[in-house]
Amino acid sequence: MKKGIAASSGIAIAKVYKLDMPDLTITKTTVSDVTAEIARYSVAVEEVAKDLVTIKEVAMKNLSEEEAAIFDAHALVLSDPELKSQVEGKITGENINADAALKEVSDMFIGMFESMDDEYFKERAADIRDVSTRLIAKLLGKDLPNPSLINEEVVVIADDLTPSDTAQLNKNLVRGFATNIGGRTSHSAILARSMEIPAVVAMNTITESVNNDDMVILDGSEGIVIVNPSKEQIEEYTEKRNAFIAYKEELKKLKDEESVTLDGHHVELVANIGSPKDLEAVIENGGEGVGLYRTEFLYMESAQLPTEEEQFVAYKAVLEGLTGKPVVVRTLDIGGDKELDAIDLPKEMNPFLGVRAIRLCFQEDEIFRTQLRALLRASVYGDLRIMFPMIATLGEFRKAKGILMEEKEKLVAEGIEVSDTFQVGIMIEIPAAAVLADQFAKEVDFFSIGTNDLIQYTFAADRMSTSISYLYQPFNPSILRLVKNVVDAAHAEGKWAGMCGEMAGEAIAAPLLIGLGLDEFSMSATSILSQRKLIRSMNKSEMNELAAKALECGTMEEVVALVEAAVEIK
Ligand code: PEP
Ligand code: MG
Repeated sequence: MKKGIAASSGIAIAKVYKLDMPDLTITKTTVSDVTAEIARYSVAVEEVAKDLVTIKEVAMKNLSEEEAAIFDAHALVLSDPELKSQVEGKITGENINADAALKEVSDMFIGMFESMDDEYFKERAADIRDVSTRLIAKLLGKDLPNPSLINEEVVVIADDLTPSDTAQLNKNLVRGFATNIGGRTSHSAILARSMEIPAVVAMNTITESVNNDDMVILDGSEGIVIVNPSKEQIEEYTEKRNAFIAYKEELKKLKDEESVTLDGHHVELVANIGSPKDLEAVIENGGEGVGLYRTEFLYMESAQLPTEEEQFVAYKAVLEGLTGKPVVVRTLDIGGDKELDAIDLPKEMNPFLGVRAIRLCFQEDEIFRTQLRALLRASVYGDLRIMFPMIATLGEFRKAKGILMEEKEKLVAEGIEVSDTFQVGIMIEIPAAAVLADQFAKEVDFFSIGTNDLIQYTFAADRMSTSISYLYQPFNPSILRLVKNVVDAAHAEGKWAGMCGEMAGEAIAAPLLIGLGLDEFSMSATSILSQRKLIRSMNKSEMNELAAKALECGTMEEVVALVEAAVEIK
């Protein structure tokens, strides 16, 4: 049995599909028979062409037509006469093997296209890289992993999955995933929870411990993977899986119930989403709105930036889909573990401490203004709340709000209708803002505490790091004191305070956050019903006392013990 960090609950029992890259290092050699070498290259091209046709056919079943069209672009690159003649020219002219000739030619094209300041050519560079990788693998006789070809139930095993890899997984066939690296708040783990795919991360060497087609049990609640389980273990976990499904069914009864404590204290339980497609799950799970719409996924879906119109359509769909319920839309938060093909982020030593989120938006003024215009135009379709991420100083908030108001005035001058009642708030994810919350509270309409980052910045511990994952301490009294400071500061100015970090969906957090007076809890839609069940079983007055005691504890372990002694947590 292998242990990692439980990242998304549920149990999967299926065959392994390894998503790791083979070693594609090539060696340059001299060839005497150039005709044979050219023939070898032509065979590889033909085989890759056939593969692309198959991949596209399968991809059409799992992906949208637009997403599947990428394989047409690859087929075009593959049949490009210029590529062919340059590679053949190199083989003949320099007497070198096809692998090395191809690598040199494709590197030359990639470098040339990448240096052009034009999105179209940057995308072509990515296409050439992909096609050349396929050809090199073919020439070396190695198989490439191909998730779009998965056609049976599997558990995906990978060193790491990027958020966009995760978003492309077919939920109906990928029953779970386990990765060597990552943490509970890495974005692929967050996506797994919203897609309800059981997941275990930070397994260190899981890719070395399994082979394709091995059978595995993955328990995303306990954070374990069992490789080639016994018949008894399969029976045991099948029962556990059925119990988990039954528990989820039972929770559904709470879908239309209020989120209220036994002594009548109401809170809002809302959802974190990454796309209008997630709305169905919000409604199914009784979400009372959206507390965090991570708009960056809209930007990550394609190699080009979304236009104002595309964004407007997405924001409007979410606002209309929630029929007047609150929708907090966060402006672009790129950087850290979220990269974008369309923007060349600078390579930095510490990307989580660098040009990220609002900092990037200030540098990329046009991108920011386009998003704000789309949001303002959508504001008339529901209860919109615009939220700026990674705010460290009051000056940053004023600057961001100033740009927003400039765009509003421009739209109004153009005769476009904009709401007069949308709220403007900030995420509290940098300790400087948490400490100075009383000053911010005079100017913002609301706070939403982003604990994923607030914890990493408070403990100076990278949220992606496996080896220091013990420093992800949501229940440490230091974090509770920051939360208290933020909630009290908001209330003193008649504003509301929510939380949209993963902590808001944790069972242990619910009693503490109720006691601290948090107004809004935003989480993966799939956690809403279990948090509602828990909140409905407690008394606010008792939780006030519990929170007061927790604030005086010395360690996270003491806080957890205190909560477990006071509240029954399933
Ligand atoms: C957070 O930091 O808590 C948060 C919700 O934002 P993200 O996880 O997208 O960084
Ligand atoms: Mg964050």
